[in-house]
Amino acid sequence: MKDSKFLTIDEALKKGGNVSLRGWVYRERKSNKFVFIVLRDESNIIQCVISKEKNPEFFEDAEKLTIESSIKISGTVRKDERAPTGYEVSPVSDLEIVQIAEPFPITAEQSRELLYDNRHLWLRSRKLNAVLKVRHTVVGAIHEFFRSRGYYEFDAPLFQPSMSEGGSTLFEVKYFDNDKVYLSQSWQLYAEAGIFSLGRIYNMGPTFRAEKSKSSRHLAEFWMAEMEAAWMQLDEVTEVAKDEIRFIIKQVLKNNRKELEFLERDISLLELYEKAEYPTIKYAEALEILNTKYNMDVRWGKDLRTQEEAKIADHFKVPVVVTHYPVEIMGFYKPPALPDNPEEALCFDMLAPEGGLEIIGGSERSLLVDDMIQRLEADGEDPLQYDWYFDLRRYGSVPHSGYGLGVERVIQWICGLENIKDAIPFPRTMTRKKP
Ligand code: ATP
Ligand code: MG
Repeated sequence: MKDSKFLTIDEALKKGGNVSLRGWVYRERKSNKFVFIVLRDESNIIQCVISKEKNPEFFEDAEKLTIESSIKISGTVRKDERAPTGYEVSPVSDLEIVQIAEPFPITAEQSRELLYDNRHLWLRSRKLNAVLKVRHTVVGAIHEFFRSRGYYEFDAPLFQPSMSEGGSTLFEVKYFDNDKVYLSQSWQLYAEAGIFSLGRIYNMGPTFRAEKSKSSRHLAEFWMAEMEAAWMQLDEVTEVAKDEIRFIIKQVLKNNRKELEFLERDISLLELYEKAEYPTIKYAEALEILNTKYNMDVRWGKDLRTQEEAKIADHFKVPVVVTHYPVEIMGFYKPPALPDNPEEALCFDMLAPEGGLEIIGGSERSLLVDDMIQRLEADGEDPLQYDWYFDLRRYGSVPHSGYGLGVERVIQWICGLENIKDAIPFPRTMTRKKP
């Protein structure tokens, strides 16, 4: 098999006829006369039939194959209704065993935690293979979306001297001998400096938050895709966010139908989200819907809780943008809606349908230095740490806005995953830092 040109399983299915494949044993079944191997590679699985009668020279070796053994195999691709994917390699003409795997620690009935303990091996599962392919599309789509619209990619430091999203979720890191820094909770504050040079910018990078909850939607290390734009105000930035989500879905539908089918995702819903108009409502209107339609008793002044977000999502059935949350529960940089509604902030979240997952959070950025200083002090922060940030309001200040999209949240929603941990190769949470 030395000189063979190897195809992936998908390529072999397209080509038909005689093919050479290489991959791993996904399943094996033995009888007196046959060894049935389901071969797995990055593209697909296919059954290969090794026969005692036709393959005497390697039948005994084939009998030794275990799950996840690595092999090269040649033969003829044939249609067979009984095979798992409708095709099989039969007859097999050649088999080369690369390595016989030790007993694989993952078997059919596994606890979730054991799967996470063996994440380095579980990545090979067809489920994670499918999710990671969708992730690849989502990440590529985000770059394409912004680059094709003239945004520049701009990088911020991951070591930062102060918080941007609240002290309670900061990761502190020793910085040389006697100093400390924090891992980035957001790219935003530095992006606000970048727009004065580049106008419209974006970034996608690792983000760290010491989330103490055990929710199915929070990671301690996740990827956030953020944008920031000079001259942009709330009504415009929410439309950019909607366009970005529609574009991501369009790309996933174009590239990942096979994966979505494997994940048993309702594709017709994604087709709806690709084309739909997404409503924008105010926080106050959201409360009204919750209190009248769903008989809840949600008072002004609290952030929407998971179950409330779920009801709003259920009400609209497509992604919905909620704006104007109460100023008092928002980050120091989210400005009050002056002059008429100082209790409301010029901010927004986007909630995804089918559960109400918050996938995007954004806002206009405050230009009111005194107000920001007061709010930082109220949070126990030292405003002096932010003096460079206030400079951006001193030297040619302009209205500007931006938002952050949770990459794993979007993947979780698009793939229909119960837990966000399955949207990233090696999840990090309060209780999981290995492997
Ligand atoms: P939440 O209320 O869900 O904690 P947040 O208001 O803290 O979210 P933002 O600070 O607005 O979130 O961050 C922007 C986006 O980043 C969120 O809309 C979400 O999609 C994502 N995100 C935030 N925290 C996490 C996390 N711990 N794990 C994964 N994604 C996150
Ligand atoms: Mg949070």
